[in-house]
Amino acid sequence: MNLLDVAPAEAARIIDDWVAARGEAAYRARQILPRLWQRPVAAWSDATDLPQNLRSALESDFPLPRPGGRTEQVSADGTVKFLFEFRDRGAVESVLIPEGRRRTLCISSQAGCAYGCVFCATGRMGFIRHLAAWEIAAQVRELVLDEAYGRPANVVFMGMGEPLHNWEAVDLALTILNDPLGLGIGARHITVSTIGIVPKLELLAARPEQFRVALSLHAPTTEARRAIMPVEGKYPLASVLETLRRFPKRVTFEYVMIRDVNDSERDARELARHALALGALVNLLPLHPGGAPGLEPTARAEARRFAKLLRDQGVNATLRRSRGLDISAACGQLRTEVDQQRDVPPEEHAGVEQ
Ligand code: SF4
Repeated sequence: MNLLDVAPAEAARIIDDWVAARGEAAYRARQILPRLWQRPVAAWSDATDLPQNLRSALESDFPLPRPGGRTEQVSADGTVKFLFEFRDRGAVESVLIPEGRRRTLCISSQAGCAYGCVFCATGRMGFIRHLAAWEIAAQVRELVLDEAYGRPANVVFMGMGEPLHNWEAVDLALTILNDPLGLGIGARHITVSTIGIVPKLELLAARPEQFRVALSLHAPTTEARRAIMPVEGKYPLASVLETLRRFPKRVTFEYVMIRDVNDSERDARELARHALALGALVNLLPLHPGGAPGLEPTARAEARRFAKLLRDQGVNATLRRSRGLDISAACGQLRTEVDQQRDVPPEEHAGVEQ
């Protein structure tokens, strides 16, 4: 039984029953539960506040799974990229981004991705598999276990994969991340970034917590979006924006700036129209150089002009810097690099859902 792959409240019930069935004192359950997420241990043998026989029994009944390996790249700007290796070719990336004293961890929800956005290294990898909820939350747990890093202030689902394509696991992972019995990260500090899988977006909107949502917009019209994001054929922008209108929380638009693809004045006007209609914040992100063959980032001066055009129309727009430019920090690049070093062939594209 994997106690890391159930909601913390469910894990608490299972531990209570297990402790009672063994004839142990009830307070033992209150010592065991925090070792899952709140004050995690790498293995039960590290829970030295418990007697040896109890630690051994926990190890045998509830072993704590962990990724098999971890690769790290550290950028001069402090960004750290991790590759966590889960079983069955489930290697995924997480990126820790320092912003002042706060740290934001960008996590993955799938190994590879089925959606094939042309500017994305993960999209070129194709779909490999969904992550389980515990594997999603373990990307945070591993950092909490490591004294050098600790708990991040913010978590964003912006790594490999489309989180809403793996809704069941992401739904449970959100509970684990947010629950005070779990990792205890406030809902407003957890952002789900999606290309807009409409039926699942409705399920996310229906959750009572104030999770934040970011729409990977990247092009402001159906025609322009279809050219770079095949999902547009299944869930057109108009239906995604309509769903977001019913969203109870403020929405952010993510917009990767690609030279001569989505950075014209007309694009700025269209983008401003959508942002003003929804009261959305706009994050402009220069395309990560080297992340997409044949595409180039918009030049900085042009990107500034684009941001100004948005602001002149009353939009709250921020032009971000690419982080980790000296490491493989565009989503999917590190795994591709490690696979190449190990001579692993690329996956077949499995973009059947587009
Ligand atoms: S941008 Fe997101 S949805 Fe698109 S291919 Fe990359 S990981 Fe998948």
